[in-house]
Amino acid sequence: MAKYKAPLRDMQFVLNEVFEADKLWASMEATQEVTPDLADAILEEGAKLTENELFPLNLSGDEEGCRFDQGQVFTPKGFKEAYQALSEGGWMGLGGNPEYGGQGMPKMLTVLFEEMLYASNASFTLYPALNNGATLLLDSHASEEIKEKFLPPMYEGRWIGTMCLTEPHAGTDLGLIRTKAEPKDDGTYSITGNKIWITGGEHDLAENIIHLVLAKLPDAPKGTRGISLFLVPKFKINADESLGDHNLVNCGNIEHKMGIKGSATCVINFDGSEGIMIGEPHKGLAAMFTMMNYERLSIGIQGLGLGEVAYQSAMDFAKERIQSRAPTGPKNPDKAADPILVHPDVRRMALNVRAFNEASRAFASYVGMQLDISKYHTDDTTRKHAANLVALLTPIAKAFITDRGFDATVEAQQIYGGSGYCSEWGAEQYVRDARIAQIYEGTNGIQAMDLMGRKVFANKGEFLAIFAKDVREFLQEVSGQEAMQPWVTALETELKRLESVTEAVIKAASENPEEIGAAAVDYLNLFGLVAYAYMWARMAKVAQDEVDADSSGFYAAKIQVSNHYLKRVLPRTLALEQQILAGAEVLMTLEEEAFYAE
Ligand SMILES: Cc1cc2nc3c(=O)[nH]c(=O)nc-3n(C[C@H](O)[C@H](O)[C@H](O)COP(=O)(O)OP(=O)(O)OC[C@H]3O[C@@H](n4cnc5c(N)ncnc54)[C@H](O)[C@@H]3O)c2cc1C
Repeated sequence: MAKYKAPLRDMQFVLNEVFEADKLWASMEATQEVTPDLADAILEEGAKLTENELFPLNLSGDEEGCRFDQGQVFTPKGFKEAYQALSEGGWMGLGGNPEYGGQGMPKMLTVLFEEMLYASNASFTLYPALNNGATLLLDSHASEEIKEKFLPPMYEGRWIGTMCLTEPHAGTDLGLIRTKAEPKDDGTYSITGNKIWITGGEHDLAENIIHLVLAKLPDAPKGTRGISLFLVPKFKINADESLGDHNLVNCGNIEHKMGIKGSATCVINFDGSEGIMIGEPHKGLAAMFTMMNYERLSIGIQGLGLGEVAYQSAMDFAKERIQSRAPTGPKNPDKAADPILVHPDVRRMALNVRAFNEASRAFASYVGMQLDISKYHTDDTTRKHAANLVALLTPIAKAFITDRGFDATVEAQQIYGGSGYCSEWGAEQYVRDARIAQIYEGTNGIQAMDLMGRKVFANKGEFLAIFAKDVREFLQEVSGQEAMQPWVTALETELKRLESVTEAVIKAASENPEEIGAAAVDYLNLFGLVAYAYMWARMAKVAQDEVDADSSGFYAAKIQVSNHYLKRVLPRTLALEQQILAGAEVLMTLEEEAFYAE
């Protein structure tokens, strides 16, 4: 059966030992009250909630799915009560602005709680995850009046946000949207159009649903420069802030999908709904990017959470499953066969999964830390550098974590053998639930285009230089430490490889724009492997410092898993370099007609 226990020891290791969160929090006014004790207490309570309330609903939620009945959507049994527990415990506003009732916890802490949420129940977690993004958007771009009215109930979980971008003919290319917004005399707008695949567009969890909708004004310029952003509540809000009439917005249907079956994916029709503009006319997409960037990191963590629960469950299975004998002779002579972990190939799969999961956890926290610095640090240059790092690393956090998370669920499923294919063990659900994270929130191909085109080519590698400086400062720090020499050599080599490949692509793309798209996915994977090597080097350093005094085996295991990454995973960069340098020509020469079946 599936098994989940929040990996608290590893989370505390990342937070307190690798990134020394306490020092950072103490140095910034907005986070000064967050002590390691408080952070530990939040993680421990989060673990109880996710293990005891959400995880037991994961398999049943998948089996039951959501139900659509005459415009209403019913979530699986138990979701409503679990949502109530989440709201009443104050978890919906954990990272929210304290001025409006949020708890103001730093991002590098909340990413760890998010991992627990996704690991225990990914379908359920999408409802609060969308709300977190929506509140962040409103906090950043809405007027004071809107913030005072909408943020407190959204932080309490009484109202819950959605993100309405996609239309039947407009997915990646949002410049094509047709939803219209007509100004009305009272200052509001009449919104008309059809949105599809809206996560949590309708359900029975909260008393009101707050849709954040992209639409075009009558005088809108063509393309993405003509998009505005509107807040459309399911129920209008009366002057005394009680709920008023049902707005002209309704759910046309829900999708039947491969996975995340407990998450309602809705067709939402706006039939002259009353909407309020957020931000300035025609600048809606830029504002929506605040929410999309938040969701991208969050969806990355969906990949990590599912990779973690898949790993734990597979190891629980592997402990009991005995098949064949160890190549060096019986390890378990009293039994008919040895446990499957005696086989090098099973260990290869388990170590791959673990090496990526632990690096993903560190990487998500590292990006969270940069987000906190970019928001709260007093020094302008430090803040700007952190913001540039966030811009650079967000597409990697979304695409690399979800790709490796999906691989993790598949490798974990493989460890089960045939049992992994049968529903009762839970492993196949994790594969199905992880797959969508590579697709939505901008496909992973689009993330790679964003990285290569906007975050690297457009600034000629300026953001990459900030990342490289951070890595080299670390290498300088550990250069005298003998045990770290393999890491110093490998990381310096890999960084140089990344820099020289970057230079080659920038040069090639200056002559042929197709080179960006041709290199993008391989480049993101190369960058991801190097970034994870940096994470592993930082973890290995702490583990080397502590291993002699440790009797628990935690640090010794860290060093061994880091060696697996160094020796058996990182060399994948060699192939990626060759693939990238092969360029666009080989992709673009086959005539378009030759791709289509006769
Ligand atoms: C379960 C689910 C939940 C969702 N939730 C939401 C939600 O809450 N809100 C919302 O607004 N949307 C939501 N979506 C929509 C989702 O974000 C889109 O499906 C996704 O962004 C891709 O758009 P598309 O499906 O139209 O694919 P398309 O844009 O048609 O792309 C098809 C293929 O072409 C590639 N492609 C397209 N353009 C380019 C390009 N310029 N360069 C290179 N490759 C390109 C893509 O990578 C992809 O492989 C959801 C979708 C699903 C399935």
